[in-house]
Amino acid sequence: MITVKNLAYTYPGAENETLHGLDFNIAKGEIFGFLGPSGAGKSTTQNIIIGLLREYNGSIMVMDREVSKWGQDYYEHVGVSFELPNHYLKLTALENLEYFRSLYEGETLEPSEVLEWVGLEKDADKKVSDFSKGMKVRLNVARSLIHKPEILFLDEPTAGLDPVNARRIKDMVLELRSRGTTVFITTHDMMVADELCDRVAFITSGNISIIDSPASLKKQYGKRNVRVEYFDGLATQKIQCKEFPLDGLGDNNEFANLLKSAGHVESIHTQETTLENIFIQVTGEELHK
Ligand code: ADP
Ligand code: MG
Repeated sequence: MITVKNLAYTYPGAENETLHGLDFNIAKGEIFGFLGPSGAGKSTTQNIIIGLLREYNGSIMVMDREVSKWGQDYYEHVGVSFELPNHYLKLTALENLEYFRSLYEGETLEPSEVLEWVGLEKDADKKVSDFSKGMKVRLNVARSLIHKPEILFLDEPTAGLDPVNARRIKDMVLELRSRGTTVFITTHDMMVADELCDRVAFITSGNISIIDSPASLKKQYGKRNVRVEYFDGLATQKIQCKEFPLDGLGDNNEFANLLKSAGHVESIHTQETTLENIFIQVTGEELHK
């Protein structure tokens, strides 16, 4: 669906280049994520792919056409949810969606249906000026879907949402994938990347360091260990802990002896490596600066 080759970009008038030659491709029906800290270049990349920022270097083919060659009909095919919601504040949620719906030539969804998807059905007739930040974010996502786009761009779609509403958006994205929609997500939230993305690109300072599935990254970088916490059985009753490799645990005598000899085992846990830890390991940078 999307093939990006050697994409470089410098903001007009800026001294330094922001993107330094990105390469990636996104298959039809894939959820592809850009994971990186604030300032990495995620929104810049999204804004270039959707044709908002021009004069890029390199190539971006979307549905077999270079982005710079697409005309206005591009927006019949792609839906965009920007990082900062921009709605008509004096209009209600429903009126906003009715208005944006009218701009499209192709088939569109019923605004009431889309509002239900994002959990705003009860707020349909409220003015957007009375909306919380989270409600605006959800209305933003609703708006990006109204014309049934083949490709959806979501910039930080769960930022500022409570867990229930973040879950709602995540479930909706998964539902859209099952209907064949291609989704490009930018996020600095490793949970979003982990739960949603078929593949994720780690981006820092305008460079991609790795692209892979979350599962494969964990397999490569995750240490599969078991951590045992136990009381040492001495009068002092100090808590101790020891880690063992998960592989071959059944034949590990030290592990078996510990279970037999320990005064009292407090807990046994497998140590799961998080995507955030892998991110730090691979890029040398933190996700939350
Ligand atoms: P992210 O979305 O990953 O947080 P951005 O793409 O917004 O990062 O920003 C990447 C870099 O580009 C940052 O250093 C930012 O300061 C710079 N930048 C963003 N917008 C502009 C702009 N309009 N003009 C100049 N520089 C910008
Ligand atoms: Mg951003």
